[in-house]
Parts: sequence; C-alpha cells; structure tokens
Amino acid sequence: MPLVNIKDMLQHAYDNQYAVGAFDLINLDFLQGILQAAEEMQAPVILSLAESHFEHFDFDLLMPAVESAARRASIPVAIHFDHGHSFDSAVKAIRLGCNSIMVDASESSLNDNIEITKKIVSMSHGCGIAVEGELGYVPGVEGEDAKHHPGEICYTTVEDAKTYLENTHIDFLAVSIGTVHGRLQGKANLDFQRLKEINQELGIPLVIHGGTGLDDEQFKQLIQNGVAKINYYTALADVAAQQIKHNSSSSEKISYTDNMKGVTAAIANEVMHCIKLWGSAKKAGEVLAYCQPWKSVEHLIIYNVEGINSTSAKEMITEGYTILSSIPGVRSIFVGETIKKEAQYQYTWLVRFCHPSVIDTYREHPEHVAFADNLFRPVAGNRISIDYLELPV
Ligand SMILES: [Zn+2]
Repeated sequence: MPLVNIKDMLQHAYDNQYAVGAFDLINLDFLQGILQAAEEMQAPVILSLAESHFEHFDFDLLMPAVESAARRASIPVAIHFDHGHSFDSAVKAIRLGCNSIMVDASESSLNDNIEITKKIVSMSHGCGIAVEGELGYVPGVEGEDAKHHPGEICYTTVEDAKTYLENTHIDFLAVSIGTVHGRLQGKANLDFQRLKEINQELGIPLVIHGGTGLDDEQFKQLIQNGVAKINYYTALADVAAQQIKHNSSSSEKISYTDNMKGVTAAIANEVMHCIKLWGSAKKAGEVLAYCQPWKSVEHLIIYNVEGINSTSAKEMITEGYTILSSIPGVRSIFVGETIKKEAQYQYTWLVRFCHPSVIDTYREHPEHVAFADNLFRPVAGNRISIDYLELPV
C-alpha cells in the first residue's frame, strides 16, 4: 500500500537534498505516464490535481482512478490537491482521496493570506494532512503562458515568509523567486540568494511552481537551497500535444486510437528526465522505509433504536448521513439495516475516515456533537462503537 504521508516524503527529500516531482495530471494518459516513469526509475512521486484544471476533467470521476493507481504502485506516492482556492474545495479534495493540500491565497494581502491559510491548515491537520502555502506571486496558471495571466512577479520576502509560517503552521512553502507558470519567454532569472535566506530562516521543505523551462544548473541550485518539491505540468502537456500532432500528420485516415498512440510513453519519457535531474531516482525503497503508510480508519457503530418507529429511525439516519458526510476527513458513510431480523443489532453506520487523526476531530466536531446529542443517542442507547485501522493486505 504505497500511498504515504507526504510530510515524511518531503522531509526525506529535504534532508537528503533531492526534489520529488509533483506532476499535474488531467487524464488517464498523464496518470499512467507519470506512474510508469516513477516505477521505472524507482522514484517517489506526487500525483497532483489542480483546481484550475477542473474545466478539463471531472474531479469526482478521476479521483477513484488516481487513488487506485497510487495504491497498486510499488513506489511511494502522495496525492496532492494543487492551488486549492477555498476551504470547501480543500474539504472536498480530502473526501475524494487527496492526502496533501495546497492553499493558494497568494494574490491576497499577507494578512488575508494568513487568515485563509490558517483555517485550511487547522482543518487539514485535524485530518492528518500536511499543507503547502504560497507567498508572493508566480504569474500565470498551470499550463498557460504567464502572458495570458498578467501581473508582475511578486517575490517572496524572508520577513513575510517567517511571519506567514509562524502564524499559519504550514508544512511546506511555495516561494516566488523568479519562475512563472507555463512556458518561459527566455531564461528565468532566479534569485538564489533570496531562496537561500528563506531556507535558512524557515528550515522547512520549499516548493517551486513553474518548473517547465528551467535548465539543469538552475534545478541543481534550487535543490541545494531547500527545494524538495517541484511542480511540473506544461512540458508534459507539450510533449503529449507534439505526439498527437506527429500522429495526425503521418496519415490521412486516422482513428482516435491512432492519434493517441505513444502519448503515455511521451509523458513518461519527460517525467523520467525530470526524475533523473532532480535526484529522486532509486530513492523509492529508502523513502518507503522512512514514511508512515497512509491508512484509513473505519468507524463502526452497530445499534438498535428505542422509542421511535422505523419511519422515524430512517428519517434520523438520512439526516445524520447528510450532516456527518460533510465533516472534514470523512471519506464515505455506509448506513445499513440488518438482513436477518433476529440479528443482535438492527442498524449500522460505517464511517470511513481518511486518517486516524479524524477519530478525535470528528468526535469533537460541533455538527457531530449536535447530531449525536439531540437525534442519535436519545434513541440509540443500545449500541457498540469501535474504530478499526486499515490493515495492509
Ligand atoms: Zn502552480
């Protein structure tokens, strides 16, 4: 079960001076290409899904594939929600299976950025999930030329970075030191002195967005100065597009599958190139041994109702399902009624938590407390409640 805690994964990279690639994916070709490359290179990898890409795919539909691919991989994998813009989208990403969250409120003032980030960090940490924040402004959005999303680069300052970390308790920081999202116009002018000072002051893994187009020496210096996660998308989209263009120009009558031939392999090649360059090749074994595996919890309740009829019981169950499903860290809820009438307990709740931390935050969550005190416990005196941690099989 090589889904691992990203906090451990990036700490290992930070301590051992290499960077893990966070590759944004928008469909199964990307997912398969990225994982094939990471398997081939025996490298840890981050599967990244950006909120700004949701126009290209259905997040709810793609996530089950991402999660099952991560779980069947032999190399350590984390699933990252990239550029999350709101508290609600972060909660949803966790529900769908992301085990790493990025808050991007970098276009807000420092104070607003701190307030927005703090709220998401508190919720995510309550779910056992690490958070990446961003300070300063990296122009553009994933896969688009920065010139289409104007705005001057706003460099991260050491002072702001310190204030931001102290107030938000983020786990990783995305810094703006001269990269832009999308395709570069000319060579990026990176401020390594600034990066070095931020790294010395903060001492946490740093993140670079806009990795496409940087040269080998620039990557080397980024990693030497605390960069442990590099976001990469545009170059993958470009090699995929070139492959399709090549396919379609090679013959007049061409089918969909002919057009798509080699796309996954082209993506895999580009990812392998990055993995080699960033030093994460052959690190899978070490990282797996170092990381906590990512395990879910099944919160089981079996119970009988007293003092209400079965219609009222079903109303209570439906209401509880709606309320409890929205609590952060709850992945899914199964509500059921026994098949055999003579069973000792007639009803069940099976509430799946993303991580053992959710056992406490769920119990103390005001919505849970209100439902349990007012609607559930008064009619379900006869019950058993047990939390089970997932066993790797
Ligand atoms: Zn980005």
